[in-house]
Amino acid sequence: MIELTEVTKVYPGGVHALGGVSLRIDRGELVAIVGPSGSGKSTMLNVLGTLDRPTSGTVRIDRYDVARLSDAGLSALRATRIGFVFQQFHLAAGVRAVDNVADGLLYSGLRLAVRRKRAAAALERVGLAHRLDHEPHELSGGERQRVAVARAVAGEPAVLLADEPTGALDSASGAGVMQLLRDLHTAGTTVVVITHDRDIAASLPRQIRMRDGHIVEEIHA
Ligand code: ADP
Ligand code: MG
Repeated sequence: MIELTEVTKVYPGGVHALGGVSLRIDRGELVAIVGPSGSGKSTMLNVLGTLDRPTSGTVRIDRYDVARLSDAGLSALRATRIGFVFQQFHLAAGVRAVDNVADGLLYSGLRLAVRRKRAAAALERVGLAHRLDHEPHELSGGERQRVAVARAVAGEPAVLLADEPTGALDSASGAGVMQLLRDLHTAGTTVVVITHDRDIAASLPRQIRMRDGHIVEEIHA
């Protein structure tokens, strides 16, 4: 489903964030990425998710070579196949939960009424059917992250990529969000999650450990 071959990433200024990473993630996997701060985890996730292009090497998603796609083709691939969740939620302030999620479906071309209906269904799926009209500032951190997960999965992407989704949450809310990711995985979504939490990582079927821009260890439970 996702394949990186000898991927490097050098940022302007000369930081070698990825030093030649090869990795295959199959459909239906649940994968943890762990490693110290600055080891290249977010860079790898952004390259995996086509938010960023590698400096060299190839990225294949559903057999599409990402480098051969135009920006429009890439946007379409991302919008239809990949959902993202970030540590800081990235919800629009002053916008109701249902519309934060519905706006994530803008690319679909569906009418607003249909997008809202799908958004409400996604919010129900994450346990927030009673919070449709709440704005981000009226929600707890855990609830905000659930809205972000609902937005990421409303379009039913094949892959969900999460960059430290529990990093800004207390442990109880974090556990709830992790359970949500497990449930989505059980329902068929491929999930890749960066985490600092050793217990979370250890509880997942596959762990990829990074250091200095390289994969240094893989553990299969
Ligand atoms: P992690 O997520 O494991 O903490 P990152 O992938 O964010 O690591 O960063 C890897 C390295 O690349 C770090 O040295 C970081 O400072 C650098 N880096 C990340 N993003 C950028 C950027 N946009 N421009 C320049 N350097 C960056
Ligand atoms: Mg990071």
